[in-house]
Amino acid sequence: MEPAARPRRDSGGAPYRAPMPLFRRARPACAALGRPTRIALRAALVGVLVSSTTPPAPAAATPPAAGDAAPASHSAAGARPMTHLRVLQRIADAHGGNRAHGSPGYRASVAYVSTVLRRAGWTVNVQRFTYDGAAGWNVVADWPYGDPTQVVMLGAHLDSVPAGPGINDNGSGTAAVLEVALAVARARLRPAARLRLGWWGAEEAEDLVGSAYYARRLGPRRRAAIRAYLNFDMVGARRTVRWDVYHRHPVIGRLWAGYFAARHLPTRRIANPHDTDSWSFGAYGIPVGGITSGPDPCYHRRCDRLTNVDPRVLRVATGAAVRAAWRLATDRGALRRLPMAYVKGDVRPAPSTLRPAPPRAAPGASPPA
Ligand SMILES: [Zn+2]
Repeated sequence: MEPAARPRRDSGGAPYRAPMPLFRRARPACAALGRPTRIALRAALVGVLVSSTTPPAPAAATPPAAGDAAPASHSAAGARPMTHLRVLQRIADAHGGNRAHGSPGYRASVAYVSTVLRRAGWTVNVQRFTYDGAAGWNVVADWPYGDPTQVVMLGAHLDSVPAGPGINDNGSGTAAVLEVALAVARARLRPAARLRLGWWGAEEAEDLVGSAYYARRLGPRRRAAIRAYLNFDMVGARRTVRWDVYHRHPVIGRLWAGYFAARHLPTRRIANPHDTDSWSFGAYGIPVGGITSGPDPCYHRRCDRLTNVDPRVLRVATGAAVRAAWRLATDRGALRRLPMAYVKGDVRPAPSTLRPAPPRAAPGASPPA
């Protein structure tokens, strides 16, 4: 699509769509935190980062079938995405009510995600950048198996707006992608492609700062290795009547169509959005796609809390993310059909607000302590 200037995000998004919920009853709010969650939360809040654990021992390389019948490890059966939202809510509560760029709540969010990933055996890089006078971080994690020249990437922004804790926007996408990491670790997946997951900082700024910084810093060769980027932003809204899906290539479109049709969930195809992180990758010709349950009445407000997310909606999104990751990373045929990113030149200038990072901000820099 044309790399037009990105409109301001508050210049009128899709209007909130009224009732007729897919899921009739709202679930009661969540029970008390389980022990592992409390431990993880404590680690995040005090900024203690557990060093990398040894990756799980390899199992026999038996990638799940690529067809529609999904083996257990291919589904979100063991996933507990609400666990992460409880932690993010507590982080916001403990840090002035938000997890915005430049805030201690954002730092604690980075620490939490990094800790969960390292414990699961992912290789984690915390990438530092500077925006609006404050340090920000992207968390990028690689599963240390699969062809590093064929990268399948999924991502979500990790920051909230200053007005609230950002549990649907975008704790929900954060949790869905984190559950992909845990599903891959549980299955000891040995995919054909390299799986990479990203959690972006300062998305709520004007220019998708964190993801734009990451994509730009990669350079042409490493960008061309990314065969697909899938984005998850606002995927837990209550009263979701249908899912908005987008894609730049039919291989990705078929993933969404198959997944939602099998669950009798209506979808609507939307244009590739300018106001979420997939734009930062699509601008370079990388095949992108994504799903969203859309904005809700608490969009960018203080009430975007834990109670603002429907666990059943979030579970649908988590399943879509897990399935897409499995399919693309294990099916060489699907990967081969995806076009390469543009290697010559960029199609979109770097955002004017993006400042160069200081030299110590190279990818792989140490996480915030
Ligand atoms: Zn968002």
